[in-house]
Amino acid sequence: LLPDLGTGRLEAANRAEELMNELQNALQEPLRVGSRDLIISASMGITLFSRQDRKASDLIQEADTALYAGKRKGKGEHAFFQADMRRSAQEQLHLEQELRQAFEAGDLALHYQPIVALADGGTVGFEALLRWYHPTEGWISPARFIPVAEQSGLIRRMGAWVLREGVQQWRVWEEAMGQFALPFGLSINVSAHQFAQPQFADKVAAILEETGVATERVILELTESALLEDPEGAAEKLLALSQRGLRFAIDDFGTGYSSLSYLKQLPIHTIKIDKSFIQDLTRNPSSQVLVQTILAMAGHLGITVIAEGVESQGGADWLSHQGCDFAQGFLFNHPLPANKATEALSEG
Ligand code: C2E
Ligand code: CA
Ligand code: CA
Repeated sequence: LLPDLGTGRLEAANRAEELMNELQNALQEPLRVGSRDLIISASMGITLFSRQDRKASDLIQEADTALYAGKRKGKGEHAFFQADMRRSAQEQLHLEQELRQAFEAGDLALHYQPIVALADGGTVGFEALLRWYHPTEGWISPARFIPVAEQSGLIRRMGAWVLREGVQQWRVWEEAMGQFALPFGLSINVSAHQFAQPQFADKVAAILEETGVATERVILELTESALLEDPEGAAEKLLALSQRGLRFAIDDFGTGYSSLSYLKQLPIHTIKIDKSFIQDLTRNPSSQVLVQTILAMAGHLGITVIAEGVESQGGADWLSHQGCDFAQGFLFNHPLPANKATEALSEG
């Protein structure tokens, strides 16, 4: 909170920025915790005021609203309070309450998108994708509600539910098809926030034990950013879980801008090439070069590749020709409710 005492809004804003930079610099120093160096980042919300009669509690609330906007911009970002933020913060809060209720009421569902072998189009596994059918707004994309769930902490219980629900469905398929019918298994998305929980590995292990599914059949999809937030901690979690047989996939591969060295250091089974590179494959030579490079690199490292968002036969043919074995996309199947996914399985 910074009083704008007649010095002009711009000057006050500049002072606030300076103060913020000082705080950020102070936070740059790594914190030694046990044997580990942790670097923490802080998001910040700022509100300016000129009248002296404003209530402190209102100003704190404005700064808090701005903080929320800063966090939405990204890690370690900041924002100045603006009046229209109040509305979107209220909308966000409303969405959060509705999401919580929908979750408690069992109104969320999992859909399953087949992962196919490009050679013959046969299903080799499924990716579980969350769905929320909202009574007035219809289907709300997980891209919109997952960040809300992360922000509110609901993602922990929701993520546990996704794993339990997905694995239970998987057992039904396994019993019907025999254990090795689908070599890829079931892919489950894990958000950065979920993965960052200190107890993440134990919780996953406990759920898998409770459901009795073979851990070798489960792939956890993580993004590069989830791994790079705390590389040492991530490595420990991955190793602990891979010792139990779990496999890991890097989701949205190619959209991060990280060093690639983690690929040989960590037990990564699969890379999923982001759909932005796949969708313009037949038109865009730079996407082609990127995909070829990823395929060559993965080949050397013994990592399996799945191309995501394959929508055209031309794209599928090109990928297959380049030696990409697996794909997912509307060309083959949309994400399907469990009963329809079962039908897709029996069709082949
Ligand atoms: P994602 O993990 O990259 O999932 C793939 C998204 O691409 C899905 O969107 C899927 O419906 C869509 N897709 C599949 N094939 C095609 C295609 O050919 N063309 C196009 N344009 N899109 C295709 P969806 O279901 O809306 O999910 C969005 C994101 O929400 C997911 O992206 C994932 O990051 C997140 N998400 C979904 N379910 C979960 C979950 O259970 N837990 C967590 N933590 N995140 C989830
Ligand atoms: Ca995914
Ligand atoms: Ca993806």
